Amino acid sequence: MDTRQQSNYAFRGAVSTNNALEEQKHDNEEETAQETLRPDEDMVSVVPRADISGKCVVANTEIKVGSHLFTLYGDKLREPTPYTIQVASHAHIHPEGKLIFVNHSCSPNTRFQYTPSWDLYAVRDILPGEELTFDYTTTEWQMAQPFQCNCCSTKCIHKVQGFYFLNPEQKSEREGVISPVIRAQLQE
Ligand SMILES: [Zn+2]
Repeated sequence: MDTRQQSNYAFRGAVSTNNALEEQKHDNEEETAQETLRPDEDMVSVVPRADISGKCVVANTEIKVGSHLFTLYGDKLREPTPYTIQVASHAHIHPEGKLIFVNHSCSPNTRFQYTPSWDLYAVRDILPGEELTFDYTTTEWQMAQPFQCNCCSTKCIHKVQGFYFLNPEQKSEREGVISPVIRAQLQE
């Protein structure tokens, strides 16, 4: 997969890693997500990608390392789709907003952090016009629709099908970045 499609789902609230508190925090998280997302609208744009029949997210301005980009929120599904992000063993969020158009790279310039909500941050300075990417294998155990990656990274894994399918070296390289869901799967 290189692109994600426009979402038609209604807003459902941000994702929490703490399931026990999820319900009582729900309202606060919705407010936080909306407040956090608003300034980001100016930082990035969704544009067609020249080499594929899809879209991507590019920086409108220089984005400094550590900058917050998106909070994950959206409709929760029991099964993965090509567009979802796995947040529990049987829970997959169909992202709302521009996040759904952030494509995969094996040497990405953004990554998720997972507490208290799931948020995407820049892991290096990003130049104006540069495409934003994250590594789908850091959140997906087994992808609904594996795809061939052409990211040109020296670390490219070529066939992107989920963390489960990475070799031991590739898994170890992602140790500090993987989601709590992947971490839990590894311990089973
Ligand atoms: Zn790649």
